[in-house]
Amino acid sequence: PSGSEPATKIVINLERLQQLPADKVGPLARYAAAIQSQRGDYNGKVLSIRAEDLRSLAIIYDMSPGELTDQLIDWGVLPPEARPGQHVG
Ligand code: C2E
Ligand code: C2E
Ligand code: C2E
Repeated sequence: PSGSEPATKIVINLERLQQLPADKVGPLARYAAAIQSQRGDYNGKVLSIRAEDLRSLAIIYDMSPGELTDQLIDWGVLPPEARPGQHVG
């Protein structure tokens, strides 16, 4: 399959996530909130999640993990550096 590769290091920008409309980011926002709750990690500006969680979220969004990576970068939820092979700066 062609297209983008999935992010390998997934660090979600929680402040950006809260600014986006719930009809777009609702499932992701709920997933992140559940992980925060399980860890007791409520005070961060960012949240590191598992690569495996990206695959679960891609199923929820009916995308490939690479497509979801691109979508999250477009939304500003992941930094552009999250795209593998991308050289920034
Ligand atoms: P668990 O999977 O049994 O992990 C138990 C503890 O192992 C975690 O407690 C954490 O201290 C440590 N741990 C496991 N994997 C990693 C890792 O990749 N990096 C780091 N730094 N530590 C790790 P914690 O954080 O209190 O999490 C409690 C439970 O919440 C976890 O039990 C798991 O069931 C769930 N959880 C936490 N974060 C995530 C996540 O990002 N994704 C998913 N799917 N579940 C998570
Ligand atoms: P880093 O991974 O580049 O993370 C930089 C900062 O982003 C962290 O500073 C923390 O303020 C924030 N951050 C990243 N992920 C999370 C998250 O899931 N929850 C919250 N609340 N904040 C997050 P901090 O804590 O001073 O850590 C500095 C560096 O220490 C990290 O840089 C990393 O290299 C290392 N580190 C900290 N915790 C862990 C860990 O659980 N596992 C590993 N492997 N490294 C860790
Ligand atoms: P990290 O702590 O730097 O861990 C990097 C990778 O090492 C993880 O990538 C995973 O492949 C492996 N790893 C670390 N600790 C464990 C462990 O206890 N059990 C297993 N089976 N593998 C482990 P992964 O899964 O993609 O996670 C990426 C980052 O997400 C972690 O970076 C950590 O910052 C965060 N994270 C993941 N799960 C948890 C968790 O349960 N609790 C907390 N506090 N952070 C987590």
